[in-house]
Amino acid sequence: QPDRLLQSAEQTMMLAKQKGRDHFQFYVASIDQEIRDRKQLENDLSKALSLNQLHLVYQPQINLETKRVIGAEALLRWEHPVRGLVPPDYFIPVAENNGSIVEIGQWVLEQACLQAKLWADKGLPLRIAVNLSAVQLRQSTIVDDILGTLKRHDIPAGRLELEVTETSFMTNLSDAVAKLHTLNRAGISLAVDDFGTGYSSLTYLKKMPVQHLKIDKQFIRDLLVNEEDTRITNTIIDLGRSLNLTVVAEGVETAEQEYYLTQRGCKLAQGYFFSKPLRPADFETFVQGFHEKIVENNT
Ligand code: C2E
Ligand code: CA
Ligand code: CA
Repeated sequence: QPDRLLQSAEQTMMLAKQKGRDHFQFYVASIDQEIRDRKQLENDLSKALSLNQLHLVYQPQINLETKRVIGAEALLRWEHPVRGLVPPDYFIPVAENNGSIVEIGQWVLEQACLQAKLWADKGLPLRIAVNLSAVQLRQSTIVDDILGTLKRHDIPAGRLELEVTETSFMTNLSDAVAKLHTLNRAGISLAVDDFGTGYSSLTYLKKMPVQHLKIDKQFIRDLLVNEEDTRITNTIIDLGRSLNLTVVAEGVETAEQEYYLTQRGCKLAQGYFFSKPLRPADFETFVQGFHEKIVENNT
């Protein structure tokens, strides 16, 4: 049955591709099951938006010098009716693969802008960071989509930050540079996400109109425990200083990490040490409590 064999081979290859580069995959019967699961997930995801199963949580970003909450990163959550909370690391690659990230990403942007507006009206003028997928950046209408959304919600461009990974500008460098320049000239700030995990090429950094470097949490996790991770973190902080970029540490979980990063001159941080990503109401409570605590400590 050559057809069946060919089909299996094709499906096996597809699975290997979805798992990222440099993966190989043996064909086994359980792959049939895995493929059916994927298809089901894809199908469920296509309805998640209209069924209101998606929501955003916000993780505070702290200025380490002033100990004030200066912004928040918006992170997507999918509450699946049967599977429960599906992690974004699992479903975002699926959405990128079938293109639905374009629609989902636009929804994320709308929600983040609505929230930014609500908070500004309540006297909390926070900058909201939104993750922008490489697939979104490749869309020809992306610049107009983003600027149009800000305008519709009456949000000053400076209130929005976009987080992009290095891999997202690699496929078509000049196109990505042009788009990011336009967004940046309009006042939107740009951050390189997961810095240090990709190619971290200085050529890209020089060409990109970025303001922030986010040190990936994998380096912060073993900061002060693993010498190599400590050195990488130091290097990124120094690089930020010499290129005049603000460095953000993500995944800060302990007081020791916070102390070290502050001493070392890292400007911003986010992580469980301060707070997990929160629903908007809990976020507001957190900010209030966090700022009160600082006032108390200073008196
Ligand atoms: P990311 O952009 O690198 O986001 C940081 C991740 O670290 C988040 O995981 C966050 O919840 C987690 N985190 C924060 N503080 C700590 C900490 O102290 N310790 C540890 N161990 N983890 C911490 P999350 O929310 O599961 O998101 C995973 C990834 O999914 C994100 O990684 C991002 O790449 C992607 N993602 C999430 N929301 C969106 C979205 O709206 N659009 C796109 N394109 N991607 C998104
Ligand atoms: Ca991010
Ligand atoms: Ca990261």
